[in-house]
Amino acid sequence: MYRTHTCGELRLSDAGKEVTLAGWVQRIRKFGKMTFVDLRDRYGITQLVFQEKLNAQLDAQPLNREYVIQASGKVVERSNKNPQLPTGDIELLVQYYEILNPARTPPFTIEEETDGGEDLRMKYRFLDLRRQPLQRNLLLRYQASRAVREYLDQQGFVEIETPFLIKSTPEGARDFVVPSRMNPHQFYALPQSPQTFKQLLMVSGFDRYYQIVRCFRDEDLRADRQPEFTQIDCEMSFVTQEDVLQVFEGMMRHVFNKVAHVALPDPFPRLSWDEAIWKYGNDKPDLRFDMLLHNLKVRNRVYCEVLHQTGFHVLDQAETVLAIVVPGAADYTRKQLDELTEWVKRPQIGMQGLLYIRYLPDGTLKSSADKYLSQDVLSKIQQFCEAQPGDLLLMLAGREDKTRKAAAELRLEMGNRLGLRKKDVFRPLWVVDFPLFEYSEEEALPGSVGRWVARHHPFTAPRPEHIPLMIENSPLIPPGSDYQDHPFARIKANAYDMVINGQEVGGGSIRIFQRDLQEKMFVALGLSPEEARQKFGFLLGAFEYGAPPHGGIAFGFDRLCAILGGSDSIRDFIAFPKNNAGRDMMLDAPAPLEEAQLKELHICLRK
Ligand code: ASP
Repeated sequence: MYRTHTCGELRLSDAGKEVTLAGWVQRIRKFGKMTFVDLRDRYGITQLVFQEKLNAQLDAQPLNREYVIQASGKVVERSNKNPQLPTGDIELLVQYYEILNPARTPPFTIEEETDGGEDLRMKYRFLDLRRQPLQRNLLLRYQASRAVREYLDQQGFVEIETPFLIKSTPEGARDFVVPSRMNPHQFYALPQSPQTFKQLLMVSGFDRYYQIVRCFRDEDLRADRQPEFTQIDCEMSFVTQEDVLQVFEGMMRHVFNKVAHVALPDPFPRLSWDEAIWKYGNDKPDLRFDMLLHNLKVRNRVYCEVLHQTGFHVLDQAETVLAIVVPGAADYTRKQLDELTEWVKRPQIGMQGLLYIRYLPDGTLKSSADKYLSQDVLSKIQQFCEAQPGDLLLMLAGREDKTRKAAAELRLEMGNRLGLRKKDVFRPLWVVDFPLFEYSEEEALPGSVGRWVARHHPFTAPRPEHIPLMIENSPLIPPGSDYQDHPFARIKANAYDMVINGQEVGGGSIRIFQRDLQEKMFVALGLSPEEARQKFGFLLGAFEYGAPPHGGIAFGFDRLCAILGGSDSIRDFIAFPKNNAGRDMMLDAPAPLEEAQLKELHICLRK
């Protein structure tokens, strides 16, 4: 037997027992004729004491960090207790020990805080995973997956696996492809999601499906994305949007309750997509704080009267002017304000500048544009935005899309600076009534400026009352016209996202389930009937054999775990993640293939 107890288990009540522990040497401290060793396993740390005789043995053959050892002896009460450790009241007086396996000195310290850089830790991920923070994260992930399964099982869902070697899927990213040795010159694609399979399972009659499943998307890896990631993928038959929202906010309440011991609201608040964009600037608002956008002027429509004519060209010529009121920040110094101005000018934000009004506690208004704006104008803006004495008003001006995005970012930045985005506060909501289509400048259709692409994916159902808009209008956007005036811009979908703390944690939709409407959708997306048949013929065919009305959702499981763990990084919740360039630093993958293997796959590499 290697051990009688784990390193996290022994308490004062165990004093006097003869036990055996096994684990990794975390720290060694020598005091004269005594040596203290912290022995670690995934359950905790226990202090071992080596007295005179064994100490001499240790001098002859020293232990080192990360040696795997086994030690037997008696549990005794510590004179010098450590209240930080659950085992801190006792220590193990070692009578016998054995080195089970020596270890090379690890390239970084394996403790709560480490000195290792990101790349080094990725290369030696198996060592980094020994650290308690990462162990805690993976245990949290396991608890979360158990809570998900528990809830869905109670609700009558069935977990069904779907294949990985498939054909192109419709989530709009690039596919990872796998060459087929047995079918020369042909390739499988890895699923970007099991979307079509789960819809087919509905046609098969499994009316409540789920799967915790790996998805693969060959995207440029913006911050905190992974080429392979995990979804909680779900689908239901004979449901309306309302049914889906109910079931899955229930799931989230269950998971947060089980894993984070937090009660999420019942019901979740809801915002329409339009409202979210108007009030927060984006469709994943962080509700942990207010600081809503004030829409002074939008696409040349003036909401704050005084903006008709301020005498300041930046405001008068701008298509859109938005503001946020930062509570209690009127005492921002010139230096801080200059720094904020630089912040909005960064290429990621891309604004020309930042206009501010400090509303001083004595009631005076001080602005960066004092030269151009009268006190009367400033005071009308302040009233429109309902700023209070002591507040700082920040204004952005430009084209709507860009200004909204920038205002959303600025709001989050100010939330950070004011410490309003607390990691242990969770504010979920549903964003509903998404637009069905999104405008894309790329791959314009002939005779059109740009094209319409599915905002969610091509199986999302339009709201029933908007179907005529879709089937009675051409998808082409005539040159010289504005896409925002095209009828497709007004079509809303039965699609919804779940958002927590400013992060999209899940999204889904009610699906099209009639062949006819699905074909019309492909036409709207500019797919020829031939292309549609080639790509999704199997689904169109299945819709002819009695497809039930259905809808579903998928949650980003890695992201959900990161939120539950109060972290910004999904990598910390994946056992073996890839770096920003999509590389596995430990395996050194991707890697070239041997010539023989290429030949077998009928592949000749281009220069
Ligand atoms: N397949 C979709 C996605 O991965 C989710 C869904 O519509 O259920 O985003």
